[in-house]
Amino acid sequence: MNDVTLRSPRAVWSIDGEGEGDVHAVDGVVASHASPDAEVIDVSGCVVTPGLVNAHHHLLQTAFRTLPGTRGVAMRDWLPVMADAYREAEIDGSLAYAAARAAIAEGLLSGVTTIADHHLNWPAGVGGDVDIARAVERARAELGSRLAFVRGTAGDEPDRAAASADAIAAALAPERGGVSADGMTQVAVGPAGVHSDGRATFEALAHVARERGLRRRTQANEQVDTEIALARYGRRPLELLDAWGWLETDVTIAHLCDVTDAEIDLLAERGVTATHAPGCDVPMGWGIAPVRRLLDAGIGVGLGTSGGGSNDAGHLLADARLAMQVSGLVGPQLEARELLAAATAGSARGLGRDDLGRIREGGAADLCVWDISGVGDAGSADPVGGLLWMSPGRRPRHVVVAGRVVVRDYRLVSADEGEIVAALRERVGR
Ligand SMILES: [Zn+2]
Repeated sequence: MNDVTLRSPRAVWSIDGEGEGDVHAVDGVVASHASPDAEVIDVSGCVVTPGLVNAHHHLLQTAFRTLPGTRGVAMRDWLPVMADAYREAEIDGSLAYAAARAAIAEGLLSGVTTIADHHLNWPAGVGGDVDIARAVERARAELGSRLAFVRGTAGDEPDRAAASADAIAAALAPERGGVSADGMTQVAVGPAGVHSDGRATFEALAHVARERGLRRRTQANEQVDTEIALARYGRRPLELLDAWGWLETDVTIAHLCDVTDAEIDLLAERGVTATHAPGCDVPMGWGIAPVRRLLDAGIGVGLGTSGGGSNDAGHLLADARLAMQVSGLVGPQLEARELLAAATAGSARGLGRDDLGRIREGGAADLCVWDISGVGDAGSADPVGGLLWMSPGRRPRHVVVAGRVVVRDYRLVSADEGEIVAALRERVGR
């Protein structure tokens, strides 16, 4: 086992509290004492936080960033442009692998130690689906990240989606609860939303989730979602999800831009958690989730980037900063620590993973070391809040996952960044 001690940090922050003491990773978890043969890394001048948990990404879209016709358009115009690009690229395991490697590497280099891949595109049969999931899992394993693979749907035939979700869970994380024994890989299920899938799909995936104890995730109340729900069913998305058995404690809903006070009360009452994705919704003009109101209602809120087709960067800390900056437009402003909490423990809660996203004894040793000794942080009175207020686009100097150093001095330890970029270019011509 590779044990690590982070020595003499300027500050240590976790939702559980703030301090200054050394942080020890022993056997992959946070410990109160150093292991005798730990590698000691001097982190003076640095802030240590839990690794970030990106609760909502579509890794495949990393191969389809900044495409013409996808910027500043309504979602109903965006969806077909993306669909055409997917068709042209021919989605298979090789594309999923190349895109996932780039997306997971980008995540690690910006401090994301757990990444949720809401995969929505399944052109082949069930065997091909498992190939795609295995390809993403292989990328994860090579880079040393954690993964929550969400078997999504976007208009799939319900029985096929259920069979595929079941086969993927059996292949990646057959354990009850859908988390692999080593805690590195999780499988969940989730239709893209009521705009793309009907009641039968939601029920079929819920059945698989129940059988295997998987978490459920979906998206709701982005522009097009509400529009289509009203036109097709004469009801708003959350009303439909409630009727279809999808407002329950194991469900996390991404986006939630356009929610009423009554809907927020309903979500709180049902114990549903939320994922805020401002890096997608704000630049696309799809709305801003009222995070302050969600938190005040007692709803757990995590943070996600969403995918490269709408948010062209998989940089969760940058989105935490954006979330803080725009929060004042829809209510009282959120504080930096509240967004750090969302990007760590909040996201982990939505995944049902209380072992992640915090620094406390026995919890996963997933850690980020943020060097704040440069001019971008000079003059700061608040090193922790400054992680968001200062140095936009900041990256961690070191990243540790399960006690293993996976980013050292701003570089991937187990892969070559240039090779990952070249391999994706080779596959999609970009
Ligand atoms: Zn999304």
